[in-house]
Amino acid sequence: MAFDRRQRYGSPNMKSVAIIGAGMAGAAAARALSAAGLRVALFDKGRGIGGRMATRRFPDESSVDHGAQYFSARDAGFAALVAEWTAAGVAAPWGSAGWSVGTPAMTSPVRAMLAGLGVTTGCTVARLARDGQGWRLSDATGHTLADRLEAVLVTAPAPQARDLVATAGVTWPALKPALDRVRYAPCWTLMLEHRGDPVFAETQRRERDPDAAIAWIARDGTKPGRDPACETLVVNAAPGWSRTHLERAPDEVAALLTTELRRALGPGSPAGDRVVRAVAHRWRYAMVETAMDTPCLWSPELGLGIAGDGCLGGRVEAAYLSGTALAAQVLAR
Ligand SMILES: Cc1cc2nc3c(=O)[nH]c(=O)nc-3n(C[C@H](O)[C@H](O)[C@H](O)COP(=O)(O)OP(=O)(O)OC[C@H]3O[C@@H](n4cnc5c(N)ncnc54)[C@H](O)[C@@H]3O)c2cc1C
Repeated sequence: MAFDRRQRYGSPNMKSVAIIGAGMAGAAAARALSAAGLRVALFDKGRGIGGRMATRRFPDESSVDHGAQYFSARDAGFAALVAEWTAAGVAAPWGSAGWSVGTPAMTSPVRAMLAGLGVTTGCTVARLARDGQGWRLSDATGHTLADRLEAVLVTAPAPQARDLVATAGVTWPALKPALDRVRYAPCWTLMLEHRGDPVFAETQRRERDPDAAIAWIARDGTKPGRDPACETLVVNAAPGWSRTHLERAPDEVAALLTTELRRALGPGSPAGDRVVRAVAHRWRYAMVETAMDTPCLWSPELGLGIAGDGCLGGRVEAAYLSGTALAAQVLAR
């Protein structure tokens, strides 16, 4: 996965920063740093960008948001950005609770934020190293992905960030305890497409029973910009259920969650040949249960920073605020 600095980095006088993770936190940091004139290169191990703001595409061209279901804005800066996205057609309101979604897909806002920036996807950064020339990133084969970097910003979920930063062998005593503090709940998500009538009239349902297997059911086709004729349910299992079944095979979990869905919806729920597709996706680090309660971590001496939803909490907005805060710290240097 060669990374051609001459093509992607522009003028050699500009300072260069690598960002690991092209989800909302990485995109927010990239956008702010690039606006300030820094050269930014992003690397993501996923097939596409967006991180947990994710859209699964099936071979028949249909697609479904199987990660973040919506976002809301409490912060004035984030609210202004959501208004910009809405005006640009990459986000729109959904439902009656003041929520927004990306349009035509949940990945669209991140795609808009990263337009024109160098993003390498399908690329797992396995090692960070620092010498007199700056930071170097390499993959699992030892191949150099980028080098002579002024700074590296890691926006992976905290357990993955901790393992990656450990490869650098740098001394930053506060880092590991801060990352160790963050706890994530896993989430199994079922994407179930069916033929026939909608199974409920609303756009989504939150299951309130704490012992229920299912926490959330949404009709993906009711989101703006989607095919309204396509009845795909996105079903999020509750954290306890997801933990219990975490290591099971996706096919097995799809069958179990389909049964739980029938139990939750009762008569009229999709069954038999009305079910076109039932696919399960495991999110090992889905929802933040305990956050660091600090916007980001930054060491100006090392030129190393951490952002992501593990800092402020498990919401799209919190990831944005964390990435933005880290960029501000980098620029303050
Ligand atoms: C099922 C589900 C439902 C959710 N629902 C909502 C919701 O309705 N509303 C809401 O606000 N939030 C929701 N969330 C949470 C929200 O999606 C996250 O808080 C937010 O998207 C996190 O953004 P991030 O940039 O911090 O992390 P991520 O989006 O996870 O981005 C981190 C990126 O780092 C990459 N990465 C990790 N390690 C490496 C490596 N070594 N090399 C290269 N790349 C690497 C990953 O591939 C990933 O793309 C939900 C999450 C899930 C899973």
